[in-house]
Amino acid sequence: DFKAFVIDLIDGKTDMRVKTKSLDELAAGTVTIKVAYSSVNYKDGLATLPKQIIQSYPLIPGIDLAGTVIESQDERFSKGDEVIVTSYELGVSHDGGFSELARVPAEWVVALPDGLTLREAMILGTAGFTAGLSVQRLEENGLKPEDGPVLVTGATGGVGSIAVDMLAKLGYRVTASTGKETEYEYLRKLGATEIINREELISEEKKVLRKQLFAAAVDPVGGKTLEYVLTSIKYGGSVANSGLTGGTSVQTTVFPFILRGINWLGIDSVYCPMPVREQVWKRLASDLKPLQLSEEIVNEVSLEDLPTVLETILTGKVKGRTIVKL
Ligand code: NAP
Repeated sequence: DFKAFVIDLIDGKTDMRVKTKSLDELAAGTVTIKVAYSSVNYKDGLATLPKQIIQSYPLIPGIDLAGTVIESQDERFSKGDEVIVTSYELGVSHDGGFSELARVPAEWVVALPDGLTLREAMILGTAGFTAGLSVQRLEENGLKPEDGPVLVTGATGGVGSIAVDMLAKLGYRVTASTGKETEYEYLRKLGATEIINREELISEEKKVLRKQLFAAAVDPVGGKTLEYVLTSIKYGGSVANSGLTGGTSVQTTVFPFILRGINWLGIDSVYCPMPVREQVWKRLASDLKPLQLSEEIVNEVSLEDLPTVLETILTGKVKGRTIVKL
């Protein structure tokens, strides 16, 4: 038997509780993993809302997991291997990481790279992977530290916190945008040199173009924040947009693109192809590994704490990363 956090839909409302499941209830797949840690992402918060993320109930949520292989029917993995699984269908239409045991297709599994522990891999999780992929895409589009400051929006969140740390470590000047006035010190510790209040940025009157302030931006927020970002990127710069905590619709003109040649880069961690996925995880264990993968950024919880934690992440009040110890 194993313990798992299960979401069900009863009379149109979600019902969440820790349940004991039997081995024959494991999901389909070729690799069975004893989960050491999972993590909590914004998408897991959305999974608690009826039919937003989860389409068939009951389901074990959790889009991330790290653990040890206990059985593999695929030659790429063997018993005892330490592995990471993030996204694909995990915690969406396939039982996810909020569980002591998980079974998944081998095609989703990444070997834990040298330089990371299972716990560190989940402090990073999908949020860290997304921050890493964002930085890599910005660099591929020419970004270098001497180009000027890089803006990180939603800076105290998961993607944001890790992006701030990662960019500062790589030698970039980082401007952090946050809605949390109490967390300026936290952001400075992670490496931000300038901090802008989120309200200041979204309450600006609409303009087609603004002063060219940033060489690039990591933007997990979207919405009005992204409208501001697109108009203040320097000539030839890029915006890596991964998220929507500030809204899904963005109004823009063509001018940032045709007058300043800026690049609007879409970042997707879910179906990111395996070769890129493996390369980003290797970098997360080496040059992109944040300096503060420590108590500064992490909050550790158990399966029993999840109802509260998942509710909090939806309100935008979470700081840093929350990991789940199994
Ligand atoms: P998170 O830890 O909850 O961080 C989100 C942060 O956004 C909050 O901490 C807050 O930071 C800011 N925020 C919250 N509400 C806001 C609002 N109304 N307006 C503006 N900013 C707001 O979430 P996460 O796990 O890092 O994910 C961040 C976003 O990226 C989510 O939309 C998620 O779905 C998306 N994401 C996408 C991918 C992908 O593959 N594309 C992967 C991972 C995550 P401040 O208080 O500091 O402003």
